[in-house]
Amino acid sequence: MEPASILKAIKRCLPNEPGSPVSLHQPSFSGKEWEYVKECLDSGWVSSVGKYVDEFEERLQVTTGAKYAVAVMNGTAALHLCLQLCGVERDDEVLAPALAFVAVANAISYCNAVPHFVDSEERTLGLDPASLESYLQQFSEIKNGECFNKSSGRRIKALIAVHTFGHPVNLDAVSTVCQRFKLELVEDAAESLGSTYKGKHTGCWGKVSALSFNGNKIITTGGGGAILTQDEGLARQARHLSTTAKQSHSWQYFHDAKGYNYRLPNINAALGCAQLEQLSGFVQQKRELSTRYKNEFDNCSGIKFYQEPEFARSNYWLNALILDEEYSHHLEAILNLCNKEGVMTRPAWSLLNELPMFASCPQAKLPVAESLVKRILNIPSSAILGASNVQA
Ligand SMILES: *Cc1c(COP(=O)(O)O)cnc(C)c1O
Repeated sequence: MEPASILKAIKRCLPNEPGSPVSLHQPSFSGKEWEYVKECLDSGWVSSVGKYVDEFEERLQVTTGAKYAVAVMNGTAALHLCLQLCGVERDDEVLAPALAFVAVANAISYCNAVPHFVDSEERTLGLDPASLESYLQQFSEIKNGECFNKSSGRRIKALIAVHTFGHPVNLDAVSTVCQRFKLELVEDAAESLGSTYKGKHTGCWGKVSALSFNGNKIITTGGGGAILTQDEGLARQARHLSTTAKQSHSWQYFHDAKGYNYRLPNINAALGCAQLEQLSGFVQQKRELSTRYKNEFDNCSGIKFYQEPEFARSNYWLNALILDEEYSHHLEAILNLCNKEGVMTRPAWSLLNELPMFASCPQAKLPVAESLVKRILNIPSSAILGASNVQA
């Protein structure tokens, strides 16, 4: 369990490219990206109307099995709209894992609602349904079919489940807690395109779900996101709100709600179509790389390679090593050494309840999240690193 031996083990899993730094996650553009984007430029349809937006949404539906997909500007905007579509209002509370990307808490606060942080479990790196259930039993009450926080008096309207690093949370158990406590389930599937839970795609379990196509995600549109839902009315509303809530009319500009300019431009959707054609290949390459990491770290003491939970088939978007408790003090030294030697690694996000703007938000006890955040090390994960023609 020496930092130098960890670095060596990581390097043994990577293709040999002496001298060039290895990034954590880089996109691959080896499909029809140029062709589709050129067509946008040639046709003049570059903005929020055009054939690629519709095409991209249709292909997302086919890929995920969701009935409806609505493409938007980024994953944060998707989360924001998801919460609105669930009826989250000013002064509501929304439950979310403390161990998550800041966009989750930001989206809640864009609704003038209050994030309420809960713990994660080591098995999935996501929400722990068991501790959530006993927490809610103790600290919430149901009145007129709605859940309330007994100490703040605020309504708890929804729960955001994040599929951390692409690994699905225990969706059956999380859904059961949501039903029992009258919470709307929003899936943050920003990292989990290509991951399934019990054979069904993540993003198909919540009332609404958010995807992201940021430059570091498994497929990218430059910037982009999408809302998935099984409900036609919600899909229509998502489309309406993301296009300034303008009523359809040949020349009149009439808007019937406080809308947003959140629609994904055609030129980004063109990229998305080309990227989506390569998704299954990317997942295969990432799983190949993860197998190499797993085998390499199988016999390493003090550290383990995080593997998908038994109920999931994961896209392994971002690979993670997890230090044993007694070695967590080595994290800093490993990060320093790897980054100095051109193998990019990074720790998990800072816990959201420790960020200044969310520090006074309500929170459950967070023993697992507090432990994990000191032990997680994300390691190089680009699909290209797993391609079989560049074997180490
Ligand atoms: C990337 C990401 C988001 C936000 O997506 P953007 O497209 O960057 O706005 C939200 N949640 C999680 C878990 C993410 O990884």
